[in-house]
Amino acid sequence: MMIIMHPGAPREQIDAVIAAVEGHKLTAHPIFGVEQTIIGAVGDGHYVLKETFEAFPGVLEVQRISKPYKLASRQFHEQDSVFEFNGFTIGGTEVPIIAGPCSVEGRTQILEVAQAVKEAGANAFRGGVFKPRTSPYAFQGLGEEGLEYMAEAREKTGLPLVVEVMAVSQIEMMEKYVDIFQLGARNMQNFNLLRALGETRTPVLFKRGMSATIEEMLMASEYILNGGNNRVILCERGIRTFETATRNTTDINAVPVLKKLTHLPVVIDPSHSTGDSAYVQSIARAGVAAGADGLIVEVHQDPPHAISDGKQSLTPEAFAKMVKQVKAIAEAVDRSLVPQHATA
Ligand code: PEP
Ligand code: MN
Repeated sequence: MMIIMHPGAPREQIDAVIAAVEGHKLTAHPIFGVEQTIIGAVGDGHYVLKETFEAFPGVLEVQRISKPYKLASRQFHEQDSVFEFNGFTIGGTEVPIIAGPCSVEGRTQILEVAQAVKEAGANAFRGGVFKPRTSPYAFQGLGEEGLEYMAEAREKTGLPLVVEVMAVSQIEMMEKYVDIFQLGARNMQNFNLLRALGETRTPVLFKRGMSATIEEMLMASEYILNGGNNRVILCERGIRTFETATRNTTDINAVPVLKKLTHLPVVIDPSHSTGDSAYVQSIARAGVAAGADGLIVEVHQDPPHAISDGKQSLTPEAFAKMVKQVKAIAEAVDRSLVPQHATA
């Protein structure tokens, strides 16, 4: 950190800042200019907030040089993190595809669509049983009953399950069923939930908040990593912008930016980022072209009658077409889809 003092700041103020820097177990390197003093604070200072020094009298500005997150950073872990699941890896050369409906609606729906996405090339199966709906009057999910259907689908297809957890109180029950917890966009800064997920050893598909910066996203993921759960998969699912033509705006930039800043795998959710099945294939292709390590896509056997997110859900046929296109794109950027036979 560089702490820039006001021109003419008296020596007592400079000394007070130096003492505070040392109090944080950092080394202070003051540079005394003719008019202005700059104090370099050197050491492992990721846990020290910029504001700590901004509050001192005589301080003009504080500039951070190292990142405020640590465990998520490339500096901490230079190599890409690669996580292994039943039948695929994520973060390496393979580009796995997670697919399934927005919500678990019933047993037949789940067993049918799980089979359909598997045949089309999905490597993991998604489905929400606790739904974060804008309206409290909208369908809130089937809860544990839905998880029973998901578990049956896993038994029949071999596909690992990705399911959103909305509350700390759901974790214990859900862990019996779920292979990967989804942390939803609306909960990205639910710090209690993040801490509780850090205590588990179940991997987390971590969705970017709709108004979160990339730094905020990485800081929030740090809560999970800091608890000792190191299997965090980051997901760009679109952010809110002034644009209203699509549900959200896919921040494609976030893919290479995240890949530069962090070792964690990065996936794209073209369903929530566009909100329209007409755009999902394009953005799935774009995500993989940009270097995404995977995709999560909503698929429903009868989108017009889906209980939630039907407009953005692909039919199994459209999904199969998307998988073929994405395969070609993956190969063009020296990646590959997961070989079909690999998933049990
Ligand atoms: C979902 O995956 O159905 C969902 C609610 O996602 P998000 O948290 O990205 O809105
Ligand atoms: Mn959805």
